[in-house]
Amino acid sequence: MKNLFDVSDKVIVVTGGGGVLCGAMAEYLGAAGAKTAVLDLNLAAAGKIADGIKAGGGRAIAVECNVLDKKSITAAEKVVTAELGDIDILINGAGGNKKEATTSPDMSFFDLPSEAIRFVFDLNFLGTLLPTQVFGRRMVESGEGVILNVSSMNAFRPLTKIAAYSAAKAAVSNFTQWLAVHVCQNYSKDIRVNAIAPGFFLTEQNRFLLTDETTGELTNRGRTIIEHTPMGRFGKAEDLMGTVAWLLSDAAKFVTGVVVPVDGGFCAFSGV
Ligand code: NAD
Repeated sequence: MKNLFDVSDKVIVVTGGGGVLCGAMAEYLGAAGAKTAVLDLNLAAAGKIADGIKAGGGRAIAVECNVLDKKSITAAEKVVTAELGDIDILINGAGGNKKEATTSPDMSFFDLPSEAIRFVFDLNFLGTLLPTQVFGRRMVESGEGVILNVSSMNAFRPLTKIAAYSAAKAAVSNFTQWLAVHVCQNYSKDIRVNAIAPGFFLTEQNRFLLTDETTGELTNRGRTIIEHTPMGRFGKAEDLMGTVAWLLSDAAKFVTGVVVPVDGGFCAFSGV
């Protein structure tokens, strides 16, 4: 019987692939037989993930790429195409928050520096749109492709302290729906665009908010999150893989324009 979730031999580009969540996605897809291009601003981090995939017998390359610089993305696309072939799937994973764009006792909303707000907005929104322009053009030429954006829980309900990050991920979700319609109406009915919205996963971009920097204990915010997550824990990178496999493969053949929460029920819980 055909495996609906098969991604073997697909050429998959993962931006931010040197990071915690997208590195785990790259490893999962590499192990599932995909030809995986791990793109990251941090080439050493991307290299580590690609080396791990190759050590397990998979096919992977690491490519330095700044998702905010179209020249850099275009150069990366040339390398991927030359080494792995035409791209089938794009995961727009690069993104994150920044301490300087986060309110705190030392930083009021009124004093948040516009450079920090712009940095976070650009990284998440433009950092999704620009790679889509470059890699998506290839999909339009072949008439087939899958794009998976990485939104966040805060796109559904803004979280306290992180105004720019919440707004930027809301823009990513909105763009996911917009693009899903645009490509079908103008280019091909066989190009799908979806997003996952991870809940709370303890990684480098949010560690300073969720755990105490000196003791490693949960902060009040970290505790509140757990209390508001019906499943009672932070997510683990592996918790994302089933949803990723579904959205990337033929199992989701008639699914486009959705943003799927993977959050242990956080989004469903009103707190009462
Ligand atoms: P991470 O910081 O571990 O990974 C992000 C990666 O992106 C890093 O390897 C970094 O080098 C890379 N990067 C940063 N700027 C870049 C640029 N300009 N060009 C190319 N690469 C760049 O973060 P993570 O927690 O694994 O997050 C991955 C994605 O998941 C992000 O989009 C994040 O916003 C999203 N997300 C995370 C959580 C969470 O709880 N950790 C929740 C919801 C959504």
